Amino acid sequence: MSEDLVYPGGKLRLFVDAALGQGARAIPGDRQTHYLLHVMRSKIGDRLSLFNGRDGEWSATVVEVSKRQCVLECRGQVAPQSDVPDLWLVFAPIKRTPADYVVQKATELGVRRLQPVITRRTIVHRVNGERMRANALEAAEQSGRLTVPDIAEPVPFARLLSEWPHGRRIVFCDEGGDARPIAEALRDQPSGPWAVVTGPEGGFDPGERAALRALPHVTPVSLGVRILRADTAALAALAVWQACIGEG
Ligand code: SAH
Repeated sequence: MSEDLVYPGGKLRLFVDAALGQGARAIPGDRQTHYLLHVMRSKIGDRLSLFNGRDGEWSATVVEVSKRQCVLECRGQVAPQSDVPDLWLVFAPIKRTPADYVVQKATELGVRRLQPVITRRTIVHRVNGERMRANALEAAEQSGRLTVPDIAEPVPFARLLSEWPHGRRIVFCDEGGDARPIAEALRDQPSGPWAVVTGPEGGFDPGERAALRALPHVTPVSLGVRILRADTAALAALAVWQACIGEG
């Protein structure tokens, strides 16, 4: 994870658990405190932004600084609470560096939930949920969103399908077959709850492919003539979904 919490607009934003409101105070977490005290060398009066996923974005100032802790106080709301479109990413866990990367980039691309799925060819079976949450939180701070995506517990493929929520459509990234190009397949599709589903390094096995393709709420899509790595495929599909159905 990077040390840098300043997002490209140059403004420092921190996610905190505390309730935010006029005059409310918040104590940042350890990573954030380290950054404020030892990287930014924050002083009383320095300004930053706070969000907590519920109360919108607040401008705040540093009101107390000691060796190990600082206290922040809300001055005024700068944006009301808002959420990203109802898009999930369902992905087979991949090796650590691409997994960190996928979580960060999917957060930037505005997913509401990251759902790991264990498929027959999944190589990586252990998922570090804490690490995923830390990556998601940091990417939310840097990208200007007002929510942090949910990180769900991994589920086996069969259970994913049997417990699939009614009414949530699926963009199934299906390489090497006869799937329609993604932009064409998503044209004129309704908005509402959706999920992008991508496979592991070795792809879905034929049984899993068939099970997905047999479901009425699944739209199989091609991401082009080349075989993409799992992380590239996930991010490409999210970007196209946002362009066609989500935020444009
Ligand atoms: N089966 C392949 C590699 C799978 S790539 C092999 O081993 O040869 C990993 C995942 O990325 C796939 O399961 C699929 O969900 C997605 N993917 C990769 N390239 C794609 C493409 N051109 N179109 C759609 N999905 C793709």
